[in-house]
Amino acid sequence: MSLSDPVMREIAKKALLDYKICMNCYARNAPTAKKCRRCGSKRLRPKKAKRTAKR
Ligand SMILES: [Zn+2]
Repeated sequence: MSLSDPVMREIAKKALLDYKICMNCYARNAPTAKKCRRCGSKRLRPKKAKRTAKR
């Protein structure tokens, strides 16, 4: 899959960086998740996309 397309790159970036981390088992969850899909814990913290210098 090519990342030359800016639209595709934006989607890939979101998929990689926009999620929530469970504070109990550190599993990744969807940004819209209310509770962890692995252990059921509600202690999730958001991991939001941020800009990095790497291009
Ligand atoms: Zn969990």
